[in-house]
Amino acid sequence: MTAPDLSMAQISRRMLSAKAEQFTESVIREMTRLAMKHGAVNLSQGFPDFAAPEEIKEAARKAIADDINQYAITWGAKPREITICCGSTEAMMSAMMAIINPGDEIVVFEPFYENYGPDAILSGATPRFVKLRTPDWSFDEEELSAAFGPHTKAIILNTPNNPTGKVFTRAELEFIRDLCVRWNAYCITDEIYEHILYDGAKHISMACIDGMRDRTIVINGLSKTYSVTGWRVGWVLAPPEPTQPIRKVHDFLTVGAAAPLQQAGASALHFPQSYYDKLAGSYTAKRERLLKILERSGFTVFKPRGAYYIMTDISRFADPDAVRFRADTKDVRFARYLVETIGVAVVPGSSFYNNAQDGASQVRFTFCKKEETLLAAEERLSKLRA
Ligand code: GLN
Repeated sequence: MTAPDLSMAQISRRMLSAKAEQFTESVIREMTRLAMKHGAVNLSQGFPDFAAPEEIKEAARKAIADDINQYAITWGAKPREITICCGSTEAMMSAMMAIINPGDEIVVFEPFYENYGPDAILSGATPRFVKLRTPDWSFDEEELSAAFGPHTKAIILNTPNNPTGKVFTRAELEFIRDLCVRWNAYCITDEIYEHILYDGAKHISMACIDGMRDRTIVINGLSKTYSVTGWRVGWVLAPPEPTQPIRKVHDFLTVGAAAPLQQAGASALHFPQSYYDKLAGSYTAKRERLLKILERSGFTVFKPRGAYYIMTDISRFADPDAVRFRADTKDVRFARYLVETIGVAVVPGSSFYNNAQDGASQVRFTFCKKEETLLAAEERLSKLRA
């Protein structure tokens, strides 16, 4: 068989998506694969390694036994302003694709959960980054105000925040509200860690701030609250207007999330308050445990007020051998050294920043792990020298 003649147009046609070329694979998921490859203790990706609550598992078994096994109604349950998606990852992507047009900008606090980068590229939004600054991850009001403008379509908020553990205060939310109103922008708020709070921190949803009910798109899911990250059930709560396109985008992306797991999730939403108190209490103890381990090992820690990550500064550690742990920035070399030589997987700080240099002296640990796992990490990290 001879090769067909190709026209110049065919030859010059780009065979792969230019959008997909603009972002890398997820560093967080990659670190989990490296942890498995090197037999390391995995404190990188934020998924619990302990059992999910018996009640939610029983509800899922019952839903399957009761034959809730066909497509769910595409957006989920009947109420009008909720769309159930395949995890909050799809919820965020559907929301962005439903509101973004060419030329639109989004404001993103940095460091940010790495998905927001590809979300922006795939939906076609131009991100404008605003720094959260150590040690308390506060933002500069002038810097935030300057990031808004006539092209701003939305601000992406994540509170409690991954990776910093910041919980936005009412005053901060009101300041953001005033900018959203002034520039006629949405707030897309990722509240997946809403029940994981410490030291009396209170979660306030932007949707509850005066004047924001009609411009807030809330993203949430079962994963973190009920320790079922592999079920992939998340949702979007949005006003009727954006809900229309969000439902259409979601329908053609995935049709729907697993029907019996939606059913089980609906029953979990009725768990008593004691469930949530216990969850926060158990994570408080794990946070204390990991903070101590990290401080003893020589890390500078930024104590989180919510979510289940600890951002650390690694300036006190020597830069690992650049030849052996080839990478552009110190955080990546250090993370490779940790996973390969010490036996603990973490996420390099640069994966939470637009400019890798900004995260070059940080790495993120997670503590949503059982005591055995934290103990093993403690033993391994004791070999580390600051
Ligand atoms: N949110 C989790 C993290 O930051 C991971 C979520 C995911 O990998 N989909 O580690």
